Amino acid sequence: MSALRAHEPATHPSSSFAKSLFCGEVQSGMVLPFPAMERAEQRKVSDLISSLHDVVNERYDPEKASEKGWVGDDLIAGLGERGLLGLYVGEQYGGQGLSQTGYCRVMEEYGAVDASLSVVMGVHQSIGMKPLHLFGSDEQKERFLPDLASGRKLAAFALTEPDAGSDAHNIQSRAERQADGSWRLNGEKRFIGNGSKDVLVTFAQSDQGFVALILEKGMDGLEVGPRYDTLGLRANDLRPLRFNDVRVPPENLLGEPGEGFRIAMHTLNNGRMSLGTGVIGGTKKLIDLTIEQCQNRRQFGRAIAEFELVQEKIAWMVSYLFGLESLVYLTTGLVDEGVTDYSIESAISKVSSTEFIWYAANRAFQLAGGKAYMRTEPYERILR
Ligand SMILES: Cc1cc2nc3c(=O)[nH]c(=O)nc-3n(C[C@H](O)[C@H](O)[C@H](O)COP(=O)(O)OP(=O)(O)OC[C@H]3O[C@@H](n4cnc5c(N)ncnc54)[C@H](O)[C@@H]3O)c2cc1C
Repeated sequence: MSALRAHEPATHPSSSFAKSLFCGEVQSGMVLPFPAMERAEQRKVSDLISSLHDVVNERYDPEKASEKGWVGDDLIAGLGERGLLGLYVGEQYGGQGLSQTGYCRVMEEYGAVDASLSVVMGVHQSIGMKPLHLFGSDEQKERFLPDLASGRKLAAFALTEPDAGSDAHNIQSRAERQADGSWRLNGEKRFIGNGSKDVLVTFAQSDQGFVALILEKGMDGLEVGPRYDTLGLRANDLRPLRFNDVRVPPENLLGEPGEGFRIAMHTLNNGRMSLGTGVIGGTKKLIDLTIEQCQNRRQFGRAIAEFELVQEKIAWMVSYLFGLESLVYLTTGLVDEGVTDYSIESAISKVSSTEFIWYAANRAFQLAGGKAYMRTEPYERILR
């Protein structure tokens, strides 16, 4: 049953709202009334958010995590125990069974805590575990989801290669089918979040087309390179990978041969929304920090919040946030309504959110003045 309350059914549940806009049509039946979670799910989400803050307050220091290069196994264990690592996974596999809207609302809160934590959670849930949830067989779900939903294991999504980034269809990794039905995998991946962790969904070309394969930590020939030293998001475990004749058993093929590219693209379309809501959470925190700063900082005999040019910067941050929040939650609502084509909405959410956090961080940085440059303040880490 849909987790959403709607007074009228969508008129075109399987077509795209954004694509129809480009054709000059407004399918208002798809978006009005604005989708909302049911009360029971709202309560569940609110409890999960309280748990998230309890665990984070007890076990997470963003600055230390950034120095250590990892969010911390203790934090992961705590989040797993409180049900925060399998948010949309079915209850039969130990998850919370949230809708896309409920899931993205909790991810908003991860974004408010810290961008590194938000990315680690996004890699694990939005793209790492997601293809197993969406395309896994019952046997694969039973085998992998309980450990992933509880945080005993973490997931990764390994698509990007040295010669294939935006042009993901051009990957060079190859999987050769063997007589016993297994696959022999060779190739190279780079920039893989949670790269040294436990369950990795990866993609390769084969004689039978693009394939999606599930790799497990410790498989012979799966070589994990050193963690990249990065500009920001330093508590994210970003690694290169090399596949040297890795034997992937037949039961670790995800979907059918030839379906790999569709699985990769669908996962990314679905996963991008939580990036949007993570930015919403991060920006809300940034706006709070900025308002507090402008109320407390006095220059020319008064709080700088009284100057119109200062108010204007904050007003634009709030206005853009309103637009972003509306469009991302509209998109999650469409997914929950059963709309299957949301690729444009999802791409708009990703592009708008990343452009917007840059805009907001820049303004917050300016309003904090010279102290924003100091590493004792949160602004420089947010800007990175
Ligand atoms: C922090 C971080 C985490 C990541 N995590 C993961 C992960 O977990 N798993 C994973 O698989 N990958 C991951 N990636 C890789 C990421 O998906 C790629 O960096 C991205 O797909 C872009 O590829 P590229 O870096 O090769 O850039 P390129 O594809 O080489 O692009 C370079 C520039 O050219 C532009 N460009 C390319 N084609 C066109 C075109 N047709 N028209 C106009 N402009 C174009 C691009 O927009 C970009 O500005 C991560 C990257 C980063 C930085």
